[in-house]
Amino acid sequence: MQSPGFTVKPLRQMSGDAEFNELYLDHVEVPADNVLGRENGGWEVAITTLMFERGPRTLSRQLILRQGIAEALELAAAQERNGVPASRDPVIRQRLAQLYIDSETLRYSNLRVLTRLLRGEQPGPEGAASKLFFSETWQRLLELGLELQGPYAALWQGSDRAVADGWWQFRQLRSRGDTLAGGTSEIMRNILAERVLGLPKD
Ligand SMILES: Cc1cc2nc3c(=O)[nH]c(=O)nc-3n(C[C@H](O)[C@H](O)[C@H](O)COP(=O)(O)OP(=O)(O)OC[C@H]3O[C@@H](n4cnc5c(N)ncnc54)[C@H](O)[C@@H]3O)c2cc1C
Repeated sequence: MQSPGFTVKPLRQMSGDAEFNELYLDHVEVPADNVLGRENGGWEVAITTLMFERGPRTLSRQLILRQGIAEALELAAAQERNGVPASRDPVIRQRLAQLYIDSETLRYSNLRVLTRLLRGEQPGPEGAASKLFFSETWQRLLELGLELQGPYAALWQGSDRAVADGWWQFRQLRSRGDTLAGGTSEIMRNILAERVLGLPKD
């Protein structure tokens, strides 16, 4: 990245952060020693890297989900709906229970990924299922977190009345990128359809 012709431009996300960048390579010369894998085999390197990002990386994300569900349970007990704690509302309870079931489903799916790794095998395209399932479940959880806050959901970090100093709001805006980064949900569904289920290409 220190080579002449290499430009890094941060991309500002709607959460306010800029965690990743646009990279420009203008006539950059890469020493032959720096070639990853075999020559003209860049796609193999890219797809293997992505299989690690989609599979094993989701192992820790399941814990993030479990932690988020625990926070949502606390929030539901603290927020009132029609004069009673939201945690007594049957619809809210049902949504929380579904999120818990989904996080357990992800845990079992991740154990399958872990088993492959422990056997010394490469993560396979089924990691796409974990990535897809995590990112969409995470968005559902954060949307519930904001719904529980009612009109306070519109408040951002730094506001005196923002619940948990806008932590739910920040994560909800950040989570929109989770169904894009590392492959969009549409691409994950295509991978699952074609490479896991063996359906015809679209
Ligand atoms: C938070 C965040 C972090 C990121 N981090 C990185 C990073 O660290 N490194 C990096 O290199 N990139 C990173 N990205 C970029 C990310 O990989 C791309 O945004 C993503 O691959 C989608 O590509 P695109 O934005 O060019 O959209 P496009 O590929 O142009 O897609 C636009 C829309 O068309 C749909 N679409 C495209 N092709 C198909 C198809 N064949 N079938 C069905 N639908 C299709 C997509 O699902 C999407 O809805 C990050 C993005 C985000 C949001």
